[in-house]
Amino acid sequence: MSARVLASAVLGIDAYIVKVEADTTQMLPSFATVGLPTEAVKESKERVMSAIKNSGYRFPNKKVTINLAPADVRKEGSAFDLPIAIGILAVTGQIAREDFDEYLLLGELSLDGSLRPIRGALCMALHARECDNIKGMILPKENAKEAAMAKGLKIYPVESLNQTIDFLENGDTIKPFEIDIAEVFEKALEYPIDFSDVKGQEHAKRALEVAAAGGHNIILIGPPGSGKTMLARRFPSILPNLTLDEALQTTKIHSVAGLLPPDTALIATRPYRSPHHTISDAGLIGGGRIPRPGEVSLAHHGVLFLDEMPEFHKDVLEVLRQPMEDGWVTISRATMSLTYPAQFMLAGALNPCPCGYHGDPGHECSCTPLQIQRYMGRISGPLLDRIDIHIEVPAVKFKELSGQPTGESSKPVRERVNAARKVQLERFRDEKNIFCNAHMESKEIMKYCLIDEDSKELLRQAITRLGLSARAYDRILKVSRTIADLESAPDIYPQHISEAIQYRSLDRNLWMT
Ligand SMILES: [Zn+2]
Repeated sequence: MSARVLASAVLGIDAYIVKVEADTTQMLPSFATVGLPTEAVKESKERVMSAIKNSGYRFPNKKVTINLAPADVRKEGSAFDLPIAIGILAVTGQIAREDFDEYLLLGELSLDGSLRPIRGALCMALHARECDNIKGMILPKENAKEAAMAKGLKIYPVESLNQTIDFLENGDTIKPFEIDIAEVFEKALEYPIDFSDVKGQEHAKRALEVAAAGGHNIILIGPPGSGKTMLARRFPSILPNLTLDEALQTTKIHSVAGLLPPDTALIATRPYRSPHHTISDAGLIGGGRIPRPGEVSLAHHGVLFLDEMPEFHKDVLEVLRQPMEDGWVTISRATMSLTYPAQFMLAGALNPCPCGYHGDPGHECSCTPLQIQRYMGRISGPLLDRIDIHIEVPAVKFKELSGQPTGESSKPVRERVNAARKVQLERFRDEKNIFCNAHMESKEIMKYCLIDEDSKELLRQAITRLGLSARAYDRILKVSRTIADLESAPDIYPQHISEAIQYRSLDRNLWMT
């Protein structure tokens, strides 16, 4: 005799259905789980036995076998506790119900039979609603809001094994959880921090606006305490609003990583991730025996901020190149290979020199030119090539700061950014995989960034006088295009070029003399 309960598991950010089959045979009491379970799944044995007993039921005094199908995919996590317990109770005739095929059951059990939240509930719900036979999902109440974002699927929040059994036997003891997606989305779009919190640093704010408008990666160079981190934290708030689809995708990644705060329905603000410079490459791009998303994926549709960039291990910075180019990462392990989305904007920050005071009139810099050169050299050319804007964020005296008027808030900036992005979407509507100016390669730059003789002369002068590198040329053109778009100017004019030239701090000889 056997019983079958439907559950779900996640591979990458996509879910699939797992059939949990429970079987008992008249043999010496034992409990085995088959179907490629990981250690974490095997551990569910102890929790399930205790939860069943402590909920007032009997654990069979026989051989119990649990099969997780399909058997060729490795199963992990604790979400199978609930379906396993229900399967055992069904096969031993302790639940007055035979067919469970219209529900997905998921949840981690505590020893006392209460339920704990699981990872990846949104991914599972989004998949379940595509399955015709599945009408609802029974899961821990902390996951209800998140799962309810998959409209069209009934979500039944439960707190314990007993409550689940009661619902399965008697029906309608729990009302499906309802959520107003539009309202949740609207509310979640608000950022808790704002650009107006930063006083002064108008030059840096303008550069961030240009970066946001064209999708350009940016580096901020300035001494400690100049407000680089404060500015970078607020960068997501001036990026275009997320669409609901983008918000769902970002939420899925955070849900799989187990980083979605309890009772959170949706992440609708662009994520801001700021890993410490001691992070490993696995932490950055993802890893583990069953690979989990790394910082680049957690920053999907948002901002990845690398503070003190030269302090990061060189190999760690190198692994950023692939996701920056492709917008996703593949993590290969002996047992499996997973792909996670990783479309983020990179914001980096660094001191102007190892001591931090190079070029600061108030402090003496104690570094030798060679030390400075080495310090800057830690950011490799190929990575630097993907960063269009570098600006200096000078130290601001406290007196100046307190005297500054409150700056512009994020909303009007975001509106200008949105308008500029619209122009770009229109421009690139026939181009494949290009959605903003930053995505342009040489071919598109030649097509969309035509400049007149005056501008060409200006650029030529800048390259010789400021010692700009040749590769700066294309970057300046792209950024000029964005500056022109912010003004709704159809063509690039000399003033756009000269502003863009200011955003090439790291190209200038300044750092090497
Ligand atoms: Zn120094």
